[in-house]
Amino acid sequence: MRIRTAEKMTIYQWLIGFVILVWAGMIPASVYSRESYEWFGNLHVIALFFAGAFCFAIFIQGWMLFTDRLSRIRLYSSVLFGALGLISLLRMPAYGNMDFLKDMGLQLNTLVWLTLISHGLSAVGILIIFNGNDEEVSRKHKFLTAALSAIVLTGGLYAVYSFQDNLPELLPASPSNPWMMLVSVGIMIAYAASFTAILYKNRVERSVSVLSVITALIFMMMGHYLIFLAEPEVLGMRHLTGEAFMMMAYYFVLKGVYKLTVEEPLRYQQAAEAKIKHLAFYDDLTGLPNRHKLKITLQNQIERASGTGIPAAVIVVNINRFKAINDSLGYSAGDRLLCLMGERLSRLCTSTEEVFRMGEDEFALIVGGASSIDDIQDRMDQLLVSMESSLLIDNSEYHVSVSLGLAVFPGDGSSADQLLQNADMAVHNAKEQGIEFSRYTPFMQLHAQSRFKLENDLRKGIERQEFYLEFQPQIHLDSGKIVGLEALVRWNHPVRGVISPAEFIPLAEESGLIVPLGDWVLQTACRQNKKWQLQGYEPICISVNLSMRQFRQSHLSEHIGMMLEEIGLAPEYLELEITESMTFDKEAAFEQLQRLKELGVHISIDDFGTGYSSLHYLKSLPIDRLKIDRSFVKEVMEDNNDAAIVSTITSMAHHLKLKVTAEGVENQEQLEFLKQQRCHDGQGYLFSKPTAASEIEKRFLSRSAG
Ligand code: C2E
Ligand code: CA
Ligand code: CA
Repeated sequence: MRIRTAEKMTIYQWLIGFVILVWAGMIPASVYSRESYEWFGNLHVIALFFAGAFCFAIFIQGWMLFTDRLSRIRLYSSVLFGALGLISLLRMPAYGNMDFLKDMGLQLNTLVWLTLISHGLSAVGILIIFNGNDEEVSRKHKFLTAALSAIVLTGGLYAVYSFQDNLPELLPASPSNPWMMLVSVGIMIAYAASFTAILYKNRVERSVSVLSVITALIFMMMGHYLIFLAEPEVLGMRHLTGEAFMMMAYYFVLKGVYKLTVEEPLRYQQAAEAKIKHLAFYDDLTGLPNRHKLKITLQNQIERASGTGIPAAVIVVNINRFKAINDSLGYSAGDRLLCLMGERLSRLCTSTEEVFRMGEDEFALIVGGASSIDDIQDRMDQLLVSMESSLLIDNSEYHVSVSLGLAVFPGDGSSADQLLQNADMAVHNAKEQGIEFSRYTPFMQLHAQSRFKLENDLRKGIERQEFYLEFQPQIHLDSGKIVGLEALVRWNHPVRGVISPAEFIPLAEESGLIVPLGDWVLQTACRQNKKWQLQGYEPICISVNLSMRQFRQSHLSEHIGMMLEEIGLAPEYLELEITESMTFDKEAAFEQLQRLKELGVHISIDDFGTGYSSLHYLKSLPIDRLKIDRSFVKEVMEDNNDAAIVSTITSMAHHLKLKVTAEGVENQEQLEFLKQQRCHDGQGYLFSKPTAASEIEKRFLSRSAG
């Protein structure tokens, strides 16, 4: 936009110049009398003085300003216009006091030659200087250029001075003089070439500096025309106008060089600095202010709040199941979703609220204008409702929900950092509990801390061998005989005593510690089984629970195969329990199960009925057994629904030729019902609680006949 205005201005300048040129050309020579020559002479001196002044300004600009960042264009134009300024200075007395020049022995013809040389130099010089690229130059380069130019200039001037008698006569300076005609037209061509080349090089976009240099060339052409080709009288109006044009031309060069080498780089640098600043405070993807900015704004808000007593609140907004969306739809769709969420939140903001991107799938909202906590909670309700409508990504509609976590100053923290951390804790608490929003409470802190501590203890517990196994028998319902044992891990915590796997298994799963722990369970269970076989007990199958992370290991079957071989246990005596949720990625699950089956171990689906697997789906998986979740067995006598579920599962299993084990069998009625349903096996407190290996030996295992 600025360039556009500058281009318009340039055209106006050309037009004004052209009008003056025509006007000057129309004034007949007869208008001036001999008496007015002195006046014209003085005006010439003034024009030359300013022309010289502009030239020296260009020289000084290159030579003295920002010398640490001297560039090629600035250096060369400085040298060129230094020389031109000197020639202007030399020509000044010619119009004022001719006698003075005569005393010096300088002929008028020589001065005309010098003028032509200066015009030629400017045309060729500008062509060379402004068609190259601007690069920084060293100090050495600067002084070498200066020294060389000084030698060439003094040598050139001396040569012109000493050979002036042999110079062709240029006077009268009019088109009738063939020498004058030849040289002048040559210079005009040089100007035109220079003009065309610069215009061509900058054909796509012209900066203010380039426009200024182009205007300078136009004025030089007009000036040169008026001085040498249009004026029969040396001190006439056209000649004077020509000198004024030259003066203006030098001014434009001065302006152009300044813009190009000083102002534009500075502006560029400022723009770069502004961009860096922007990046430091704004998120690249969504364009929203980032975490850094959030902290600063929140801190300011806190300071204001502590003065006024109005609460300052921060709400952390977390997109539910973002990872799953990202994994299944791809990163670009994930990015798109984040942008849409950011836009939606920004739109929902009132004038006293501000949205920030916290990182990953989290945004934050600073609520400034609320007068009470109730206000803030109402606002959260509103937000939840407004965030509900679905989003359009790649032409498909997605329903995306969010969880909110709130922390309020002063109650929930005294600094921005603390408030943010607590709001974040609140949102994770909300997710854990499956609710839409929660406000920070100190209990969460304790909870998080104890979780963290437990995770640490878990790590140490594995090293210190604080884990042991218990076994729970699985009984054939019709015969009452033992058919298997489930290995269940126990943790004997040095301070807390025995901790339930329901508490530490999810933690181990989250931290990845489940892999070494699960491995230990597998090994220990198999070794125990082998030991029983070696002791002469009848061989029995041991079930071991697998976790998601273990099941996802690509070399799981090889690993288990090697382990069994090392222990010397036949694979048919090992059963692996997986849950329905582990089979969601159908292809991967199928391949993994297939490999395990090839190994010869059995597979059962644990907690069956709590997932969403369809019958059809199960049919395609290589499995041996379903274990009906104990929640159904528990209510089987009271709840018709549960009874129906159990009976459906068993009949379906029969149909698919799968074995069925009922979990959590606690009483005789349940046992009778399960028998009626032709359920194969059962496991539960009715038969035995999980118990130590020695106890199992005594109560359940029998010596084999051999
Ligand atoms: P699960 O695989 O469903 O294990 C059966 C759970 O039900 C055991 O709880 C067992 O003590 C309990 N149970 C057995 N009979 C009855 C009964 O008649 N009534 C009631 N109310 N409960 C009964 P436990 O040992 O606390 O294990 C809980 C869960 O921890 C297990 O559920 C399993 O998912 C996980 N787990 C246990 N050991 C391991 C392991 O070595 N690796 C992995 N990955 N998970 C394990
Ligand atoms: Ca199990
Ligand atoms: Ca189970």
